[in-house]
Amino acid sequence: METVTKFEFKALPYAYDALEPYIDKLTVEIHYSKHHKAYFDNFTNAIKGTEMESMAIKDIFKKISKYPVAVRNNGGGYFNHTLYWENMKAHGGGQPTGKLSEAIKKTFSSFDEFKKQFSDAGKTRFGSGWAWLCLDDKGVLCICSTPNQDNPLMDVADKKGAPLLALDVWEHAYYLKYQNKRPDYIEAFWNLVNWDEVARRYEVALKG
Ligand code: MN
Repeated sequence: METVTKFEFKALPYAYDALEPYIDKLTVEIHYSKHHKAYFDNFTNAIKGTEMESMAIKDIFKKISKYPVAVRNNGGGYFNHTLYWENMKAHGGGQPTGKLSEAIKKTFSSFDEFKKQFSDAGKTRFGSGWAWLCLDDKGVLCICSTPNQDNPLMDVADKKGAPLLALDVWEHAYYLKYQNKRPDYIEAFWNLVNWDEVARRYEVALKG
């Protein structure tokens, strides 16, 4: 009998051109259908015939240091991009409301200060990686960045937590439109954030 993996390559939640003018159509198309798809394919190949096939991805990340590096890179790439696509939308941006808004103000003193710290995490990540807003195990919001395709759910991460907002700062995420100007891409990202999705993740994370 053929084994069907429970991991799925989810459809992009919008059209390739939906994030224009902030992220161009060609970048989204290549990023999703080539880069993200390749991480997914390589991840499913890397776990084939192992105990990981029947594990939840978060449990794989919890002991990622014990598994082959191909699982770390491609499993991270698969999972992180799903978060990234879903925490953006056409006509996003603005500010969160409700409990998430209160928590951001309590932790970072203001939304603008949060935005600055998160942007700085992305701008100062040397080479390729990600910026994150997370909820840590004490129930406090925190900002961090990870190299390559690592994420804060992995046992190898310096700072751990449940990811609420993900920003890809690999050059493939912005180079066609922004070339070397990563800060311009990060500034544009704020016009796309899907705060309803971030708030939903916050609610889920609070429940543990
Ligand atoms: Mn990417």
